[in-house]
Amino acid sequence: MSQLRFKVVEEASARKPVKVEIPKERPSEYYGKCVFNRQSMLKYLTKKTYDALVYAIDNKEPLNREVADSVAAGMKQWAIDNGARHYTHWFHPLTDGTAEKHDSFIDYDGKGGVLEEFSGKLLVQQEPDASSFPNGGIRNTFEARGYSAWDISSPAFILGNTLCIPTIFIAYTGESLDYKTPLLRALNSVDKAGTAVAQFFDPNVKHVMSNLGWEQEYFLVDEALYAARPDLVMTGRTLMGHESAKNQQLEDHYFGAIPPRVEAFMLDLEIECHKLGIPAKTRHNEVAPNQFELAPIFEETNLANDHNLLLMSLIDEVARRHHFQVLLHEKPFAGINGSGKHNNWSLGTDTGVLLFAPGKTPKANLQFITFIVNAMAAVYKYNGLLKASIISATNGHRLGANEAPPAIISMFLGSQLSDILDKLEKSDKDEPLKLAGKEGLQLDVSQIPEIMVDNTDRNRTSPFAFTGNRFEFRAVGSSANCASAMIALNAAVADQLAEFKSKIDARIAKGEILEHALLAEIRELIKFSKPIHFDGNGYSEEWKEEAAKRGLDCETSVPLIIDSYLKPETIEMFKRQGVFSEVELEARNEVKWEMYTKKIQIEARVLGDLALNHIIPVATRYQSVLLDNVFKIKSLFPKEQGEKIAAQDMSMIETMSEHMSIIKDKVNAMVEARKIANKIEDERDKAIAYHDNVFPHMDEIRYHIDKLELMVDDEMWPLPKYRELLFIS
Ligand code: ADP
Ligand code: MG
Repeated sequence: MSQLRFKVVEEASARKPVKVEIPKERPSEYYGKCVFNRQSMLKYLTKKTYDALVYAIDNKEPLNREVADSVAAGMKQWAIDNGARHYTHWFHPLTDGTAEKHDSFIDYDGKGGVLEEFSGKLLVQQEPDASSFPNGGIRNTFEARGYSAWDISSPAFILGNTLCIPTIFIAYTGESLDYKTPLLRALNSVDKAGTAVAQFFDPNVKHVMSNLGWEQEYFLVDEALYAARPDLVMTGRTLMGHESAKNQQLEDHYFGAIPPRVEAFMLDLEIECHKLGIPAKTRHNEVAPNQFELAPIFEETNLANDHNLLLMSLIDEVARRHHFQVLLHEKPFAGINGSGKHNNWSLGTDTGVLLFAPGKTPKANLQFITFIVNAMAAVYKYNGLLKASIISATNGHRLGANEAPPAIISMFLGSQLSDILDKLEKSDKDEPLKLAGKEGLQLDVSQIPEIMVDNTDRNRTSPFAFTGNRFEFRAVGSSANCASAMIALNAAVADQLAEFKSKIDARIAKGEILEHALLAEIRELIKFSKPIHFDGNGYSEEWKEEAAKRGLDCETSVPLIIDSYLKPETIEMFKRQGVFSEVELEARNEVKWEMYTKKIQIEARVLGDLALNHIIPVATRYQSVLLDNVFKIKSLFPKEQGEKIAAQDMSMIETMSEHMSIIKDKVNAMVEARKIANKIEDERDKAIAYHDNVFPHMDEIRYHIDKLELMVDDEMWPLPKYRELLFIS
């Protein structure tokens, strides 16, 4: 075995679980210990300040300077009491991750010393010189100023020794340069439109909230093995590696016993999550070997998303303590499942009603159906946009690949809900049916059977599935910022609800009674949204054909999928909902295309380097061992016998030569394709060139490298193999 590979495999195999420091208190006692939540606020703020802050949070109103100063003083004291030495505005730039610049609390005290200082001004707003964050040309470097401003709806927290203050990040000229700003705008729009519709059913509703429960999938790889795979280190995925003889075919990993080293890591991670107020709840093995999942209890979407972003940095840190490297990439290994981040999404009222959950009365059920069909219509109208919201260079490797949702958005409803919608569609005013609920109440407008949708009716192949009281958007990638999907979805649904509301109002103005108006519009939406509804096998070839016939977006090229953001109807929708301006949409697409190009460019460079400098030399060395053998056989044995004995080695030598020469040719062709693509100025055209002309070489090169892996002496092979990466834990 190659020296390095031998060493790291041994090191990884010998590793024991790391001991976890378990707090003496119970989880309920240390939960949220590192969060400036209402409990800490009560303790550290005056009653007046506390009331003003809570009022501003609950009513989405700005803080005045006086209150801000007072909050800052209390927050600083709390932070220092809890070990913080620095503070940072914590924001989400257009890379998939978070950004922070730490400042210490110290300031001159005017007497030659320093003291801990933190003003309301610094709490509320800062101007990070962030000219090197992606901005799609909104801010050129001369105009490098951007503002970060405190998002009071998400509590500050302490990570390590740093007080982190969740903020939005906007350009000097007002355009958003982050994910949080448009997310907050989309959540406001769905609140407004959702409340207006919910008030048809209950005038007491004042707010509609969007909820998000994410399920984070990830792989763990031992840190020593990871370090010996330059492709994993540089790109987050393996660019080569033959399938292991055993992978997930026995289906013995899903929900299987968790290996002790992993269990220790999970426990450690959970404790950290709970201290930070992340309600981590579920952990289990996933389908692929060394693949796992963590899911919290769902929360309001903005908070849930902050928690997911925090989790993504936390998980990396905790994994390192346990000598693991966590892979959040969507497709780290070929031939086995990739990782997603299901976004369980629902809408709920401030009166405590989940709007996608069937109710107990006919009225509640009519409300349930109203929200369901509006969600369907929005997903149908904007299916291309929703796909664009989850696509990226990395998720592009997963979607449409084996055992992953196809690159087509459809909606699964399950047989019960489908039946109900069918019946509703067929009923009409001339043939009044009865609407029954659990409490037996009846209205003379329509009849739908008592609705008790169970969520066992699961279809794992659907990218967007109804699961009893929520929808599960499964196409979201494991490394993504959920905000991207949540912005598109909530804005689209808000827009649809607003349209629905105005249609109902128009009917009522003409003298129709509310229930009739609702049912009439519901029927329209059921008919309209039919093409998005698909309960069959989303992985099948027939579905691709059928989806194309239905006019769903079937584009598979990542750079072209992103085009959906700039369709005139999409731009108008985002403008109507006050979520994005056209300039923002254009700038964001520039960033997306640029990111796509850069990621594929890095992968292509790493693959070229590995192929020529790691694989070919080793294959050549092994080939020369074989040649040597052939030479010796031939010189020892009589001619005919010698040729016979050496025949197999000879044919192997030839096959290896073929693979090696194809690899060299393809790497050269790939380099040429890159040179041409790099000269293209337009970001979209460049991304298309990378997708169409550079990327296809990578699979071919890999194919031939993987063949060589099967031939070359195992002792010589330099890179840890799939069976080592996936089965040592
Ligand atoms: P599964 O893997 O079977 O889908 P999990 O328990 O792993 O289920 O994850 C389900 C996620 O959905 C959890 O985060 C849970 O809190 C969340 N969830 C449950 N009900 C709702 C809801 N009404 N709205 C949003 N999220 C929800
Ligand atoms: Mg799920």
